[in-house]
Amino acid sequence: MKIDQTVNGATSGYFAVFDGGEKTDSLAGLSTALLHKQMHTWPALADGYAALEKSLIKEIDGGNWKARIQCNPRRIVSSGAKLDPETIKKRPCFLCPRNLPVGQEAILYREDYNLLCNPAPIFPGHLTIAARRHIPQELRENVETLLLLADDFGSGTTVFYNGPKAGASAPDHLHFQAAPSGLMPIEGEAFRKWGAVEVKTIDGVAITRTVGLARGVIVMEANRAAAVSDVVVNIMDIMGRSLTDSDGEPPLNIFCSRFRENWRLILCPRIKHRPDAFFCEGEKQIVVSPGAADMGGVVIAPRERDFHLLTAELIADIYREVAFGDDATEKILSKL
Ligand SMILES: [Zn+2]
Repeated sequence: MKIDQTVNGATSGYFAVFDGGEKTDSLAGLSTALLHKQMHTWPALADGYAALEKSLIKEIDGGNWKARIQCNPRRIVSSGAKLDPETIKKRPCFLCPRNLPVGQEAILYREDYNLLCNPAPIFPGHLTIAARRHIPQELRENVETLLLLADDFGSGTTVFYNGPKAGASAPDHLHFQAAPSGLMPIEGEAFRKWGAVEVKTIDGVAITRTVGLARGVIVMEANRAAAVSDVVVNIMDIMGRSLTDSDGEPPLNIFCSRFRENWRLILCPRIKHRPDAFFCEGEKQIVVSPGAADMGGVVIAPRERDFHLLTAELIADIYREVAFGDDATEKILSKL
């Protein structure tokens, strides 16, 4: 395969190509090498990591669940972004290859995706995997890509997805994200034996749900990607049927990783993207704009004021407002 395709106006080639062939280096290894190189060659990335390093961190104990609040001012670009269709239409899409900043490089992933370092990282090693074409953020047709990405990275990396109405800052451009596994509390909490309710097994997919995490979480584990994909699509169908607004996919966040011979997938069904407090003015405003990381227990507060204000109770309130509770999650699963 030729590797001289232009990623953006200023660079003339891909950092590497991953096509899944036997002779290709591992995706995790290539990503680490890209990150190391870009820290020296792309100043915006070094700035992003300096901001992450300087972020204030507060650990929250919600009893059955934990959260880590990260005061990262650089994330205001995503957290504060206007996401209405008009604004989105007018702005140059930051994931389109032609708009990538000068100095940003990519790994060409299986011909159709650019794997990029996220310049406003929430996690060390935070990656964005963006379609090369400007096509909408949409899961139904792309669950298999999500599962394949998790497989290509191998255990130790978690791939995550924000629905277009559940935290995606580019709802018009298909993308996934990835980070080292274990950095989000939910990744441990979802697989605790205690506090989990066994629901059923469908075509080899063991389905459980969590209890008492202030938001309902559906957990799947199986060794066949196609079977996991079917269950995810079924859940989306069930959620979609109860939507009054039939426009687009039901809001959700997903986390996926490989564990031994299995795929592990965590699905967080959402009611809406942002809590009402986000839209308040003055004292009452709280700038928290929950996407996958926040639902996973890493809550981003770009403003220091909100960082100090947030408590376990407030975070639980936000979770309850934007996500399904345990009962509502059980209701979805009873229809599977
Ligand atoms: Zn685009």
